[in-house]
Amino acid sequence: MRLPIFTACLVAVALATLGAAPAGPPTPSLPAATGLNFHQTPQELAASCDAAIATAKAAYEKILGAPADKATFGSLQAIETAGADFNDATAVPGGLWELSPDEAVRKASGDCFQKVSNYNVEVQSDPRINAVAEHVSTLGGVPAPAGTKLVEYYVVGGKRAGAGLDPEARKRTTALFQQLNDLELKFAQTLDNEIVTISITPTEARSLPASFVALLKKTAQGYVVPVDESTYGQFMINESSSAARKRYVIAYGSRGGIQNVQRLQQAVAVRDELAHLLGYHSWAAYQLEAKMAKTPDRVESLLNTVSEKLLPKALSEIAALTVYKNSLGSPGPLRRWDYGYYENKLINSKYAVDEQLVRQYFPVDHVVTSVLGIYQKLLGVTFAEIAPADTWAPGVREYSITDTASGKPIGWFYLDLYPRHGKFSHFANFPIRPGRVMPDGSYQKPVSAIVGNWPLPSAGKPALLSHEEVITFFHEFGHLMHSTLSTAPYETLYGTSVRPDFVEAPSQMLENFMWQPSILKEVSSNVKTGEPLPDDLIKKMIALKHVADGYDWSGQAFYAQYDMTIHSSGPKIDVDTTWFDLEKKMTPFPGTPGTHPEASFGHIMGGYDAGYYGYLWSKVYAQDIFTRFQKEGLENPAVGAAYRKDILEPGATVEPDVLVQNFLGRPMNPQAFYSDIGITQ
Ligand SMILES: [Zn+2]
Repeated sequence: MRLPIFTACLVAVALATLGAAPAGPPTPSLPAATGLNFHQTPQELAASCDAAIATAKAAYEKILGAPADKATFGSLQAIETAGADFNDATAVPGGLWELSPDEAVRKASGDCFQKVSNYNVEVQSDPRINAVAEHVSTLGGVPAPAGTKLVEYYVVGGKRAGAGLDPEARKRTTALFQQLNDLELKFAQTLDNEIVTISITPTEARSLPASFVALLKKTAQGYVVPVDESTYGQFMINESSSAARKRYVIAYGSRGGIQNVQRLQQAVAVRDELAHLLGYHSWAAYQLEAKMAKTPDRVESLLNTVSEKLLPKALSEIAALTVYKNSLGSPGPLRRWDYGYYENKLINSKYAVDEQLVRQYFPVDHVVTSVLGIYQKLLGVTFAEIAPADTWAPGVREYSITDTASGKPIGWFYLDLYPRHGKFSHFANFPIRPGRVMPDGSYQKPVSAIVGNWPLPSAGKPALLSHEEVITFFHEFGHLMHSTLSTAPYETLYGTSVRPDFVEAPSQMLENFMWQPSILKEVSSNVKTGEPLPDDLIKKMIALKHVADGYDWSGQAFYAQYDMTIHSSGPKIDVDTTWFDLEKKMTPFPGTPGTHPEASFGHIMGGYDAGYYGYLWSKVYAQDIFTRFQKEGLENPAVGAAYRKDILEPGATVEPDVLVQNFLGRPMNPQAFYSDIGITQ
């Protein structure tokens, strides 16, 4: 899922060390098929941003000039259209800040993004829009389910934005939301633009794969290793020097710096004040009202149940790994920076699954083609690559989507898969423009993108992916399908705009596919021989799947508990000591002194605040949804079609519990989740 982390480029650093930025194609004389123009100059971006805000202001004033008690459902639809027009007009100028290879474009786009965010805060808390929504909610004749759900979203949204408050309190909430936006923006900017590295000696480089070392900058003393998500996995499992791994972990856990700790601390205080002004006793209570879970109590109860069962499991996994480490002649306890290295070694010896060997079966091109092939078959859609692609950076690929049965065009998507300096630093689906019914009755076609940071190919060799990277791609592509195959009539209710604690469920469900032998054969092709993954290797990979369930899920429960704790304990809770206290209590490893990992915990400064539990929560739904595929066939197009119709198409027009019940033919139950992670009730 795309995390709405904010950024722009304020730090003047050397331009693009990776994929340096040649000028994009010249401004096309005709608009691209998508209708989106990615080739605007910084001046043009700024101008189109300001023009969009002016147009939106004029549109709202025209609608809101009439008294609210005369408003009809049509008035609310007009408000929705004004907002959707604004979002569409600012999608590119306000979206290139974490995509463009050009620093000046990123800067202009970041400025636009900030203006757009601030303006949205103003609109959401506008008492006149709230008055229209409140009035329309008393009228009959609103079409169900999309119309009534739209009214409900506006009423609850207005309340949560403080639109019903007196002018002074409203002014204060608007200022606080804007302050929060600024803090979140600066938090993300710092992470996207800082360059964190460690130096290693030629001896320390010896245990790293040659293809990895080939990409490192060489110095007189050795090599410089970039410390980020694109190197973390490869470095931590291969580097044989404990001291080098420790340096890496400390650098990784120090990203964001003390300034991001302070921003998070300030954000917690701002959120707490906001919650109280809006009539909630904590930020967590405020956030949960708009979610499936509804109350912090329900979340706490799930976290307690799960973590109680998981910690003993995690501790026994670590104990076994410590024995293994000691048996290799390395005495003493297992540290955090030892975990990946020894886990990989144990895996290689006990299960003989060599991560480097598995990578040989996942060359990028084959993975992309076969994953796209699976989605096409399963969901009844056809993708066609567009050449030349019309995009924001060299190397980004563009595709059209059509409905296979009817031949009807549906929309477009982009694949932007490799790192560049200044680019978004994770792997996510970016819904660029949602679908919706336009005022003339036509349907606006959606546009979405996968933005990722796969390892770069080295000279003459294709990039090879780990199984985990393949799963991530499959997961994110599942979000992309949600954000392009939805048929919801309103942007507010479109695609992935579902309840935030449900949004991960469809993609978490899809991850199960990447553990099925028939699917693994389909997505693999040895880079030298073209053979699919052999049966015995697949068997070992599957045997391995649950090896670290305790460690992994206790980590997830810890992140979720940290998030809930700092957002339900008042404004003064110390975000730094709370991290270390809870980590010690809930996970097998104490925190590493000298680090402050919360400074790079982008989720809680990018829209997942008091919401991180959603990964675990929605996993419960995911595993239950998957049971129908298990029973009726993984690549059964009839089940795929039902999934598209019951889960993906409605977007937020139908509540998640009802979507799942429609698909399964019964209410959700958590059995599949518990048995999947080895908890017997
Ligand atoms: Zn996701």
